[in-house]
Amino acid sequence: MLSWNETANSAQPAWVPAASDAGRTVAGRAQPGMIPSPADAAPGGPPQERVRAEDKRIINGHTDVNQLVPLKYKWAWDKYLSACANHWMPQEVNMARDIGLWKDPRGLTEDERRIVRRNLGFFVTADSLAANNIVLGTYRHITAPECRQFLLRQAFEEAIHTHAYQYIVESLGLDEAEIFNAYHEVPSIRAKDEFLIPFIDTLTDPSFRTGTAEADQALLRSLIVFACLMEGLFFYVGFTQILALGRQNKMTGAAEQYQYILRDESMHCNFGIDLINQIKLENPALWTAPFREGIRDLFARAVELEYRYAEDTMPTGVLGLNAPMFKGYLRYIANRRCQQIGVEPLFEATDNPFPWMSEMTDLKKERNFFETRVIEYQTGGALSWE
Ligand code: FE
Repeated sequence: MLSWNETANSAQPAWVPAASDAGRTVAGRAQPGMIPSPADAAPGGPPQERVRAEDKRIINGHTDVNQLVPLKYKWAWDKYLSACANHWMPQEVNMARDIGLWKDPRGLTEDERRIVRRNLGFFVTADSLAANNIVLGTYRHITAPECRQFLLRQAFEEAIHTHAYQYIVESLGLDEAEIFNAYHEVPSIRAKDEFLIPFIDTLTDPSFRTGTAEADQALLRSLIVFACLMEGLFFYVGFTQILALGRQNKMTGAAEQYQYILRDESMHCNFGIDLINQIKLENPALWTAPFREGIRDLFARAVELEYRYAEDTMPTGVLGLNAPMFKGYLRYIANRRCQQIGVEPLFEATDNPFPWMSEMTDLKKERNFFETRVIEYQTGGALSWE
């Protein structure tokens, strides 16, 4: 059994405030995570010192986490607004054509069906792992309210993604037990999740506290694994495969949903990278040569695992794709992630074998790639109270 759920069910609930949230009291300052008490203030002085933007910190901050404003990390607030502007829901996507194709014995080849099953097998639990990692782990260690605001939005998006995969499984009438147990039963999927789980367990452990160099490095390492390797690498073989099906006019409903998910995930990955770089800026002592070497080893291992997953999902060529093409693609992505966080690239410079994937992430809200529907959400400003 994978162990992350043991952490979630452990005797001490994970929502107990960590030291990162509440433990460090500075005279006259708010205690993050709590409603500041006037008793903290010096006798006769103002009830509470007001939050100044320049005092905010991403980790180990001492300012009141309940006060979003004054904004310091505008990039986080902007990403929150962009994520909200990209809102979508799975049930808005029509699955009728996909259902017809899936039920038609000649609709898809066996290799194409294998790709769909393996894909869902990985993704139906991956976004739950991501959500648990945010809600039970990352969130309480981050002391900047702008970043917490984005994380709240991100957590909801992970729920929408799990909903999307469930909606596809249900629409196609797939064997739910087989798909939802794939992360226990399919070795190439299980290996990816087993790689991730120790990093989730670090952050969700109720006794984990930031504030020492060792703990802060453990947090930074987990953030890098999540943003750069899970959301930034482990999702990409699967996304490319389903979007390649869509480009051939097959499983267009599923492909449309994956396209929205890809757009959300690239935002999560970019937010994570900004978060990592800001922590580096504020805590340069964490970014040691041995730490960076350890990160490069993790990247190398993740590329290997994702490549094995590509081989397992495509034992032969399918859709004009084959596993060796992904070797180049994964190296291209890994190098880019290294460069984004300031780590020496692992591989020789290589071209992106799937340039069309970059266009997919630039999807505009108004019109989707397959031109099957128009999405417009009513904004607060459009409501009338008369
Ligand atoms: Fe995500």
